[in-house]
Amino acid sequence: MEADVATHSRDDLKCQCGHTGVLRTSENDQPYSASWVSHKLEGFLGEVSNWQLDQVKCPECKQVGKVEYVKRP
Ligand SMILES: [Zn+2]
Repeated sequence: MEADVATHSRDDLKCQCGHTGVLRTSENDQPYSASWVSHKLEGFLGEVSNWQLDQVKCPECKQVGKVEYVKRP
């Protein structure tokens, strides 16, 4: 049985118009294999690569690149 080597994290996203969503990320943290990061958007459209949000489209206001990470306290 293989161990789950991926690290899962979630980041809250928010558009300038107020629409919110979630970015789920799976990250391979095994030291001796090629590293990879897999992103999955919830609530927004488009693609995320290397944590860049500039290609993310908001389904509410139809704008691209207005989405930011919600900073946590
Ligand atoms: Zn929006």
